[in-house]
Amino acid sequence: METNQNFYDLVLKNGWVIDPSQSLNGRFDVAVRDGKIVAVAEQLPLYEAKQIVAANNYLICPGFIDLHVHVYEWKTTFGLPADDVGINAGVTTIVDQGSSSPFTFSGFKSDIVEKSQTDVRSFLLVNHAATQTIGNTESGLENPQKIDKETLIKVAQANPEIVRGFKVHADSGSISRWGMGVLKLAKEVSDRTNLPLYVHTGELFPVVESNRPNPEKVVENALSYMKAGDILGHCYSCQPDGLMGTRTQVPEWLFAAIERGILLDLGHGLKFSFDIARRMIAQGVFPDTVSSDAHGSFKQLHDDSTLNYSLCGGISKLMALGLNLEDAIATVTINPSRVLKAEAEIGTLKVGSIADITILELVEGDWLFFDALEQPLEAKQKLIPVGVVRLGKLIQPNCRLLRDLVAIAP
Ligand SMILES: [Zn+2]
Repeated sequence: METNQNFYDLVLKNGWVIDPSQSLNGRFDVAVRDGKIVAVAEQLPLYEAKQIVAANNYLICPGFIDLHVHVYEWKTTFGLPADDVGINAGVTTIVDQGSSSPFTFSGFKSDIVEKSQTDVRSFLLVNHAATQTIGNTESGLENPQKIDKETLIKVAQANPEIVRGFKVHADSGSISRWGMGVLKLAKEVSDRTNLPLYVHTGELFPVVESNRPNPEKVVENALSYMKAGDILGHCYSCQPDGLMGTRTQVPEWLFAAIERGILLDLGHGLKFSFDIARRMIAQGVFPDTVSSDAHGSFKQLHDDSTLNYSLCGGISKLMALGLNLEDAIATVTINPSRVLKAEAEIGTLKVGSIADITILELVEGDWLFFDALEQPLEAKQKLIPVGVVRLGKLIQPNCRLLRDLVAIAP
């Protein structure tokens, strides 16, 4: 049968397209067929389509990628339902940061990856058990004796589509117990697989006070195990052992790290400080990627009632802090897709790429956001997802977890 080149499954007509991967910022029609982007044009020539959406009032972007979420539901206390932080939050690809490990990955793959509409990827925790539940927070997630290098490498290499890197913690609690050994092992695994490390920063686990590391040295020391393409998470953390800590000036070693290709990720979570962000932004330090670190309660099983931040909320806050819209979109599209080495498929609207699209409303008004320290931030705009296209199919997000952006019934 002859295929009609002007017949499409879906056309998003005359939307405001921002695609930093192609430096697109303007009015375009976007056409989808067989789950792929097949045309982007100022005005498509005569065509037929099964579904046409008038997108005049909407922002059309490559499907958003959230590089840091926790979605190993039921196996970790705090794992969220993947599609609630994925497509239902306007996000087509999510990356679970370290909720699964070489010993639990197969369950993650069959229970979460294969059952979700959202594209789910993973950075494996280097520790072989990974799962964190109530009562075992001190059991040694970063104990180097619980690392099985060969199995890590084997699991990563057997699942190249899903496993895109490794998660490791450089926090004072872990270091006070086990030193930097885990980073050394993680670096070896990263080098042998050619996959990046995502390094958590900022105090997280209980610290052995008699052996507390100098907070000013924690990130600097971790950097000696990191190479270009590796990621420092929670870049605007308020914790004293974070990137900025109590400093007023960005340290020289951090500029040097950025210069040699170390990437910074927002990892919003519970420690994002507007004050730290302002200090770093004043010296030109923005995150390469914005991610949510969306997770449920650490103390209750399967409880997301307290989650009050999101990916679209995170980029709205960054915009209020001075990041321009185009660069903000890049932090959740092309930049994270490069981290995943998937820039030909996702994070772009290039013809031939997967038809994953985020459709948003840029809402003007007087909004107030709050950070981890309950400091306010005035914002004039916020980005609210109104639709996603996932593998060519149009879906309306339920926005159930977007408490920072929309009023949600209790
Ligand atoms: Zn996290």
